[in-house]
Amino acid sequence: MAAGFAPPKLAEFILTERLGSGTYAVVYKAYRKKDNREVVAVKVVSKKSLNKASMENLLTEIEILKTVKHPHIVQLKDFQWDSENIYLIMEFCSGGDLSRFIRSRRLLPEHVARRFLQQLASALKFLNERNISHLDLKPQNILLSGGTLKLADFGFAQYMSPWDERHVLRGSPLYMAPEMVCNRQYDARADLWSVGVILYEALFGHPPFASRSYAEIEEKIRSNRPIETMLVMEAVSKDQSGDYAAALSLYCQSLEHFVPAVHYETDAQRKEAIRKKVKQYISRAEDLKALVASNNKISFAQAKTTRDLLKEMSRGSPRLIAGLELASAAVAKEEEGDDGHDTLDLYQQSLGELLLMLAAEPVGRRRELLHGEIKCLMARAEYLKEQLKMRETQAEASMDRDPLSESVKSSCCVQ
Ligand code: ADP
Ligand code: MG
Repeated sequence: MAAGFAPPKLAEFILTERLGSGTYAVVYKAYRKKDNREVVAVKVVSKKSLNKASMENLLTEIEILKTVKHPHIVQLKDFQWDSENIYLIMEFCSGGDLSRFIRSRRLLPEHVARRFLQQLASALKFLNERNISHLDLKPQNILLSGGTLKLADFGFAQYMSPWDERHVLRGSPLYMAPEMVCNRQYDARADLWSVGVILYEALFGHPPFASRSYAEIEEKIRSNRPIETMLVMEAVSKDQSGDYAAALSLYCQSLEHFVPAVHYETDAQRKEAIRKKVKQYISRAEDLKALVASNNKISFAQAKTTRDLLKEMSRGSPRLIAGLELASAAVAKEEEGDDGHDTLDLYQQSLGELLLMLAAEPVGRRRELLHGEIKCLMARAEYLKEQLKMRETQAEASMDRDPLSESVKSSCCVQ
């Protein structure tokens, strides 16, 4: 099966690491055996996974990609098949997909987002002139190669003239046009909505209607509430249920919308109202920050008790003790208020050691405790990483020196 661990074999190529996967396919990096070992990406689709509809989708994908040639559309070099799989041999995009790119930077600066949007628009204009709709536009299907964007995954793409109407649901709900989500009916314009969602995600780091279910997305799309109001509502509800860390993060997300609004609002009265709201949310964020910090202290104390117990149980195993000492050092550094790269390094070193030890640890009480300890340390390390990234993005954005943004910055970073 395509999803197996070992990559499948192809006569002219050596398949190596796995680059990604989606609903039907697994994509591998590969080298051509001849021709100077040209690097390519091979999309492997297992024949077994294909029903009639998905087989047709795959054939359309091949047909479209074979006919289009554009600097911002991934190039299909060849396709092959054997008894098990169908293989699409494509140009390799070394920058991975846009989803990973955004996540690794938390969000993109405006000038980068603008350039990507222009490139995406030129690909879509080209497709539109040929009556092709992509219908599955999302960051996972947009690849990057040397700073250039390449539209990929034409698995749901269709030839559609502007007056065609369709009813079959395609694409991912988070990026789907309202007429698709709500009426199950759409035309070639559906792609435009997805472009807006992608732009939003690039600028804010998360899609505008992030939801846990289909029903929730539908509710959010249908409601006329502005996104910032929805964020505040979610923040308030998290706050009421005692999930302070989530509430803090939601207040901060909503502030990212409200603060610019203070600047672009021209009506004096509305401007004042927004300013008031911002002040109110900043003040709640400040309180939440203190609450989260004190909760952190409590969990630090609990974690220390467990770690001491583990140390007691690890007398005969010096490596385990050493790993735990590293963990203690990391936590101590963080408690002293050092939430920089050095502390994160210590966390990562201790995790490296402890994970090795866990692999060799027999089932029992000590294993359970060690497992718990590792989970705690991972959570701390993740949290630190987020804080670091948040600060770095804010440092980048600090050209904006107005007092309101400054206080948002200070209330959104927890010590
Ligand atoms: P699916 O139809 O299963 O969603 P995709 O064509 O979207 O398959 O590929 C799945 C993932 O593989 C992408 O999200 C991307 O991370 C990676 N990928 C696909 N094609 C390439 C390529 N040409 N170069 C680099 N990575 C790729
Ligand atoms: Mg895909």
